[in-house]
Amino acid sequence: MSSTKNDKKGTQSRKSQGRKSAEKKRIAVIPGDGIGKEVIAQAVKVIQAASANVELTEFDWGADRYLRDGTTVPADGFAMLARDFDAILVGAFGDPRVKTNIHAKEILLGMRFKMDLYANVRPVRLLDAALCPLKGIEPKDVDFVVLRENTEGVYTDAGGVFKQGTPDEIATQEDINTRKGVERIIRYAFQYCEEHSKLDGSPRKTVLMCDKSNAMTHAGGLWQRTFKEVSVGYPRITAQHMYVDALCMQMVRDPRQFDVIATNNMFGDIITDLAAGLQGGLGMAASGNIHPGRTSMFEPVHGSAPPIAGKNVANPFGAILTVAMMLRHLEFEKEADKIEAAVLAAVREKKTTQDIGGTLGTKEAGEWVASRVR
Ligand code: ATP
Repeated sequence: MSSTKNDKKGTQSRKSQGRKSAEKKRIAVIPGDGIGKEVIAQAVKVIQAASANVELTEFDWGADRYLRDGTTVPADGFAMLARDFDAILVGAFGDPRVKTNIHAKEILLGMRFKMDLYANVRPVRLLDAALCPLKGIEPKDVDFVVLRENTEGVYTDAGGVFKQGTPDEIATQEDINTRKGVERIIRYAFQYCEEHSKLDGSPRKTVLMCDKSNAMTHAGGLWQRTFKEVSVGYPRITAQHMYVDALCMQMVRDPRQFDVIATNNMFGDIITDLAAGLQGGLGMAASGNIHPGRTSMFEPVHGSAPPIAGKNVANPFGAILTVAMMLRHLEFEKEADKIEAAVLAAVREKKTTQDIGGTLGTKEAGEWVASRVR
């Protein structure tokens, strides 16, 4: 992992400090549906303001196109993304007009599964104490990252329904865990821990594996054995374990204790919504979907949020921080630093949307950050 272009994933990479900006990179932009379109418009403005050496190409994949011509992903779409782009910036998918959500599944899960973006990197950082619902918590107390397995688990749609609609109906949803899949996300977590610092510059030291192996013994057993075996190769890193229910409680009792968390697809999905609560809500959370050495995809943690779509109220900072994460991944360190500093200034000066206490609209908050970056 360390020798590829993909050795930085959101928080400061120790190796990357002091590097110069990279050569021109090509970015595919897929705003998608609902607030995805609104926040990505602002995120793009911020990329342009940062004058990063990138070429942006927008794609109209999403509900509108699906309703117009039935296309979810054009023929060869994923191969084209992998071949022609260095990174993909995505908004969100989901539209009440598409009841089956088929386009969202095919585009978003398609990208994660078919492009094999196995590490979902979700940094959890508190920018300002005022954004955290917990008492007495300062920004330095919330600085951890969740590494969610992104290609297996219960999200592969394995299972089925029998005797649907009858009193005898049976539904199964299978939890797929392969040795390869479990091992690579755990290894990724240890590598991440070795290569990244906390925001205050101190080294990361602990990988915590989160599961429910006391109840889900088959899958949990594989995670437990693999974690033990992989951790032996990283003697300087402390390996810890917590059951997912206990972890949820600890996250709101004392988020200071967390550093790098590795977990499966579903637990990662759930605990990062909880973690987003520590950061000021879903509107503040960024993520990357990474396969080291391949074209990776970056998206805010939030979804398309139909109830607030089209009202200019969605918080664009999660998408803007996602852009910073993507640029850092592409070795545009200076530009990423500038963007993160501008978002921090916006939060401190309350130039924000209402969800985090400001009075600005999506567009105005995005423009404020863009002009600060400029
Ligand atoms: P998905 O399953 O696609 O991730 P979700 O069901 O988790 O989506 P979201 O679309 O992420 O739901 O949003 C849930 C609610 O959180 C929204 O209705 C909205 O109130 C709030 N929310 C999400 N994102 C934002 C944002 N960027 N700004 C403000 N509020 C947001």
